[in-house]
Amino acid sequence: MNGKIALEEHFITPEFGQPIVNLSDTRLREVYRRLLEVEEERLEGMDKNGIDFAVLSLNMPGIQSETNPRVAVERSISVNNELASIVARHPNRYAGFAAVAMQEPSAAAAELSRCVSDLGFKGAMVHGYTNVGNAETGEYLDEPKCLPFWERAESLGVPVYLHPRNPLPGQARIYNGHPELMAAVWAFTVETATHALRLITSGLFDRFPRLNIILGHMGETLPFSIWRIENAYSMGRGGKELNKPLSAYLSENFFITTAGNFSTPALLATMLVVGADRMLFSVDYPWASMDDGAKWFDEAPISAADRRKIGRVNAERLFGLPEASE
Ligand code: ZN
Repeated sequence: MNGKIALEEHFITPEFGQPIVNLSDTRLREVYRRLLEVEEERLEGMDKNGIDFAVLSLNMPGIQSETNPRVAVERSISVNNELASIVARHPNRYAGFAAVAMQEPSAAAAELSRCVSDLGFKGAMVHGYTNVGNAETGEYLDEPKCLPFWERAESLGVPVYLHPRNPLPGQARIYNGHPELMAAVWAFTVETATHALRLITSGLFDRFPRLNIILGHMGETLPFSIWRIENAYSMGRGGKELNKPLSAYLSENFFITTAGNFSTPALLATMLVVGADRMLFSVDYPWASMDDGAKWFDEAPISAADRRKIGRVNAERLFGLPEASE
């Protein structure tokens, strides 16, 4: 399929990449090289794979791991300016998701407004919980202090992409002795699915019903699990009473992308649960391969109409992009 739009596509600046610069792992060094590169190889890969347009975002954990709130606000502004200059050089190929300092939600709201209104960004990407004060203290996005940010996102009409990160060090006991299960292997999924459920059960979407959250990786297992989650929640363990069944929030307040999860059974299951209107193609470049993601998606056994929706049309509508000429 030509004209695809992808939206979990990461970049990094040397400043944010410092922790991985000296890694001996050759694969990670290659990922890092590709994270820095936005001018040639990435665009050639998009051309080759029928990806017309990519929404770029700062690599994880981005601003979220900055323990000093004042520094977090400053760094978010400078990296958003840097992303704006990349987009300005390739306005027909790239747009941006803002990096926001949730350490200071009011400042994050102001920066989101600036990025959307002045820089033409399409929303924000937040990498899980936000460290405040030290590496062991994390705050989640459903906490009351974040309400000004959500209010702004809803009023601007832009989505927020909830991206994974590893759990807080003090909450990683279950992975002790099993470092192989950290990150994208499994820990990201648990952390992000739980975070998304916190957003739902906090009542955030009753308060802001037009809010849209984007989840990558085919919904972090939630489409597969939502029946059991909803069923058990309805038996009541002190959970908040919500306006709608939990599955309705998953279908009405979330968009789910194919980023980094090129599984046909997972694609079909997700379509059955949330519907093709709430799904979006993505790669998760350069952590996942553009060639693999595009080839899989182009050949997946779904109708041409659904492929068009997931590959492009839903993103056009969500981001207010001009329709493809073809
Ligand atoms: Zn990613």
